[in-house]
Amino acid sequence: MPRTAYVNGRYLPHAKAAVHIEDRGYQFADGVYEVVPVHRGILVDEELHLDRLERSLGELRIAMPMRREALKLISRQVMRRNQLSNGFLYMQITRGVAPRDHKFPTAAKPAVVMTVRQMKPASPEKLEKGVSVITVPDIRWARRDIKSVSLLPNCLAKQQAHEAGAMEAWMVEADGRVTEGTSTNAWIVTQDNVLVTRNANQDILNGITRMALLDRIAEEGVTFEERAFTVEEARAAKEAFITSSTNYVMPVTAIDGKPVGNGHPGILTMKLREAYVSHIEGAAGGASGAEEAKTAA
Ligand code: PMP
Repeated sequence: MPRTAYVNGRYLPHAKAAVHIEDRGYQFADGVYEVVPVHRGILVDEELHLDRLERSLGELRIAMPMRREALKLISRQVMRRNQLSNGFLYMQITRGVAPRDHKFPTAAKPAVVMTVRQMKPASPEKLEKGVSVITVPDIRWARRDIKSVSLLPNCLAKQQAHEAGAMEAWMVEADGRVTEGTSTNAWIVTQDNVLVTRNANQDILNGITRMALLDRIAEEGVTFEERAFTVEEARAAKEAFITSSTNYVMPVTAIDGKPVGNGHPGILTMKLREAYVSHIEGAAGGASGAEEAKTAA
């Protein structure tokens, strides 16, 4: 089936979907995005993603291009037109098209693009093995809380990981503290069974998966600390994992080529993955999400 994309008011064949060469997203990375997981036709934690989108736009002083309800309607149309039941929705909003000039244009209208992509759940083999990460210096700007499309340092680090045979790179500040992965949040479980992930301020992106998991953790009575941890601490950890909208909770079994704990996915990690998956299942409810996408469109 041919894919359909939404671009500035129009639904277009994916291959023909394009934005203007003077879109400020293209020239200055002057825009923000969201990736929303879709499970059985339901946009998981949609409101939290839209809250973060509005916040990112607000921090960059880009106007909301339309009301939230309209964004939701378009998301559902894109899902329906692509018959998406499992995968994710990508939403990008830039400051719009204007003659190239660093200053904000006075008249530009924010530009909106939405696409969806199917995604299979992680295979049991992948989950059984876990993934490996490398550590790299964090060379990003100081507002990592904004989900900006300016992802060049993340791309460089991810490529470095790929070339090292790893799945992700954890970015590290000069003092040795881990911020996060290139597209994931980073977590460890210490030898005393304390779950640790970095506190969300301007240093990291506050992942929606991270937030959803924190709610579950409170319910499960897990001992938990929200603070920065060092690479050294991570190497000595009992368990480690990453979270994101496309990876859910993914065990990390090696850091810089050395096994984490016994080198197998941790018990708490897998328990938290289950908790997150049941959160997603709960969001999808008993109803067929694809059905809802049809009726809502
Ligand atoms: N950190 C960074 C830098 C990311 O790009 C992402 C993915 N967007 C995350 C963390 C995880 O966020 P989420 O759980 O909302 O996907």
